[in-house]
Amino acid sequence: MRSNSLKTNTNTSPNDKFNATFYIESPPHFLPDTFSKKVNLLDSTLREGEQTPGVSFTQEQRLDIARKLDEFGVNMIEISPIVSPLHQQATKTLIAENLNSKIIAHLRALPQDVDVALNCDAEWVAMFLSTSDIHLKDKLRLSKEEALQRAIVAVEYAEDHGLKSRFTAEDASRTDPTYLKEVALAVKEAGAEILSLPDTLGCLHPSLMYNLVKSIKEAVPDISIDVHCHNDLGMALSNSLAGVEAGAEQIHVCINGLGERAGITSLADATMALIMLYGFKTNVKTEMLTELSHFVSQSSGIPTPVLAPIVGPNAFRHKGGTHQAAVIQSPSTYEIMSPEMVGNTRKLVYGQYSGKTGVKHLLQFLGLDLTEEEVIDITQGLKEEDIEDFEIETSGKNLLDIMSFQRTLLQEKMNRRLLQKRKRKEV
Ligand SMILES: [Zn+2]
Repeated sequence: MRSNSLKTNTNTSPNDKFNATFYIESPPHFLPDTFSKKVNLLDSTLREGEQTPGVSFTQEQRLDIARKLDEFGVNMIEISPIVSPLHQQATKTLIAENLNSKIIAHLRALPQDVDVALNCDAEWVAMFLSTSDIHLKDKLRLSKEEALQRAIVAVEYAEDHGLKSRFTAEDASRTDPTYLKEVALAVKEAGAEILSLPDTLGCLHPSLMYNLVKSIKEAVPDISIDVHCHNDLGMALSNSLAGVEAGAEQIHVCINGLGERAGITSLADATMALIMLYGFKTNVKTEMLTELSHFVSQSSGIPTPVLAPIVGPNAFRHKGGTHQAAVIQSPSTYEIMSPEMVGNTRKLVYGQYSGKTGVKHLLQFLGLDLTEEEVIDITQGLKEEDIEDFEIETSGKNLLDIMSFQRTLLQEKMNRRLLQKRKRKEV
């Protein structure tokens, strides 16, 4: 489905997102039927995200982020009550609010940590323990057998206390595959409902991630698999999707891709890739993605990158003359989704790269009724003068409000330019 003009997209309600504004135009046709199942999103902005160097949310921000994520519609929200008394209080508060998103308490695979979750009235716990040789040797100083026993004891302890549990085999991607299967089987038998397979160091590529998830799925078919992919080589999203293709049921994400070192898969990227490329049915409010990004950008002090997909300021910005001319005719020529669908805005940037069609659109937008010759003059003027790029927004929730001030300024600017041209001609 597509919209034929820029204007028809400006007042689209969220309910229309799979109609008027859903215009990828060809990729949905190659979606295999096998990918029609549901994939869950676990957001870890309050746990992994707060582990981003330099990031420390206030208590109010923690609660606000969780409530916004709940409104957005993620399936699980991860938070670590063992970090500090404030985190414990935040976990307890959020659990008491009985949100639609499940609150999962992230902690070490130790009974005393599970007790902290119990004190928060948790329903879900995520217990982590490294399983790779290098972590067992240099971080935990545990033998494989000791680690296995520690995992079993913790999962059984959670089970005995009525908790639903996830076991995270930290550094799974660098774990001996035979041992990893042994751990997976053991924690499943001890009562874990979910096994998280993190690429803790971000050292896999999609084929390797696919094989990792597939091999565990085959060895332990009855356990649900989470994938948690770090972005050290820029592969976090690709690896997460490869995990889904191999049968993983849940992807771990952070708003803006926050996390240790280079971060993990971004909420916006994973959400829209699942919808646009795999056709997953989802009830999430995609139109909240840009707002979520801005909110966490302000709360974390880490700005949304200009070039960030989906939610970045440039994600729907068009500059080249041929691009603009095409987008004015039909946005889907250079956009695979509408900005409204993700709460972002479309902008046309004018300057030396502008073409006649784009300039004509700008002038009409400004209410200037000019002849073809004058439009050509102005287009030429933009190329001759060494001016900075300027832009207009052509979509957005409050388009008219946003534009009223900008429109006046631009109108003055373009009127001056036109006057100069006319004067030059008269001379
Ligand atoms: Zn991580």
